[in-house]
Amino acid sequence: MAIQRFPTQLLINGTTVNGEGRAEPILNPSTGDVLCEVREASADQLRQAVDAAQAAFPAWSALSPKDRSAYLLTIADTIEAHGDELASLESLNCGKPLSAARNDEIPAIADVYRFFAGAIRNMMGALAGEYLPGHTSMIRRDPLGVVASIAPWNYPLMMAAWKLGPAIAMGNTVVLKPSEMTPLTTLRFGELLANILPPGVVNIVCGRGDSVGAPLIRDPRIRMASLTGDVSTGSKIIEAAARGIKRTHLELGGKAPVIVLDDADIASVVEGVRTFGYYNAGQDCTAACRIYAGEKIYERLVADLSSAVSSIKVGTQQEPGVEMGPLISARQRDRVASFVDRASQLPHVEITAGGSTSNSKGFFYKPTVVAGALQDDEIVRSEVFGPVVSVTRIKDAEQAISFANDSEYGLASSVWTQDMGVAMKIASRLQYGCTWVNTHFMLVSEMPHGGVKHSGYGKDMSVYALEDYSCARHIMVKHAL
Ligand code: NAD
Repeated sequence: MAIQRFPTQLLINGTTVNGEGRAEPILNPSTGDVLCEVREASADQLRQAVDAAQAAFPAWSALSPKDRSAYLLTIADTIEAHGDELASLESLNCGKPLSAARNDEIPAIADVYRFFAGAIRNMMGALAGEYLPGHTSMIRRDPLGVVASIAPWNYPLMMAAWKLGPAIAMGNTVVLKPSEMTPLTTLRFGELLANILPPGVVNIVCGRGDSVGAPLIRDPRIRMASLTGDVSTGSKIIEAAARGIKRTHLELGGKAPVIVLDDADIASVVEGVRTFGYYNAGQDCTAACRIYAGEKIYERLVADLSSAVSSIKVGTQQEPGVEMGPLISARQRDRVASFVDRASQLPHVEITAGGSTSNSKGFFYKPTVVAGALQDDEIVRSEVFGPVVSVTRIKDAEQAISFANDSEYGLASSVWTQDMGVAMKIASRLQYGCTWVNTHFMLVSEMPHGGVKHSGYGKDMSVYALEDYSCARHIMVKHAL
């Protein structure tokens, strides 16, 4: 679908308004061209957004789960009805293939709202009862108030759904800030929300982290700050939240280990890594980017994977058959290139696929395989957040577990073997929020997504997210024995 007009207005108290702060250029990563400019929220507009969320909270939180659920179902229907338009905007602003935005992301986004619409009507908990003679105790689960939600640039509308779905289903109100690089789908969504939700339940403000994100979190009326972003940003948010004693919910980076044992089905591994290591140009915190391969299959895996990865079709959003787009920015492309350049200087490393930028105006980097990497190499330890997969030899499963856990990150992992007993044993010892067996990357709305260690804490999706966006309260009634 051709885009007729770019949405550039913020959503404050149910009304779309122009930002009054600095203008930020929004780029098409496939060409580097400026699509439009979006003005940041001014300090006054930030205050108004929090005022609106605060004012909307009593009525919104007092609605029955059934009534809030109906709003979420309308949101899901609206996203589907505008699926072509939202997918076109997302792919244009992020550089991702239109087919991925349209066929993978839009249905998953609608499903997140539908899941929370159902889940909020089915919350479970401890039984009410007499835990002290003559007193009946019961548990309530109540919303927190105004939540500040800060999203990254890799899946803007999806990350908005992961944050808004549980927050508003639970009865909170929200001020959402998309990434300054990719605000367009969130702003269009804001225009649609203006006709769905009561004013102030969701407010959308744009701007950079320092000028808009940080002051938003500092507002004393914000009760919880939710971030999906970098580890360094997570740490700044914890510091800011500590001063105001606010809850935090942090989905930070990842460096997913992919343990491939000697008995694995190599064709499935190759197909899986070709897909899940390079999806969204590897700009995915669960990307299958750190392979640990058994001695016996190492050579074949490197050869087959390198040839499969070289066949990934890289191109602009609407090129027929395109599988991978550019990185989000010139800065991100240069960062990825510098990781690979440093790795390629090492005597034991061989770049067996890709390893360079392409001759294009856009921010492209070729899908890359870095073979022979050792556990202490930067390419194995640091999050690259680009289309780069490293392969490291392992002696046995024990060493694979120890290498996999020897990481600051703890978001996602996978194990590939035909022995389910071994897979279960390894899964039980991995320090990761998720372990897949003989697959990678699969997420469902019913199951929690979130990390340990520097990957953060708090769960997206699932009933655990409803718990994170609420507090358990104890009510005790004294009565005659
Ligand atoms: P980023 O941390 O630079 O930015 C994320 C958001 O935080 C943006 O909206 C930004 O404006 C805002 N921000 C920056 N500084 C801030 C501050 N001081 N106060 C408040 N807000 C601030 O991250 P990014 O570059 O947009 O995204 C990439 C990173 O996100 C990667 O490290 C990736 O691993 C991580 N990520 C994690 C998950 C997950 O689920 N764990 C999902 C997607 C991305």
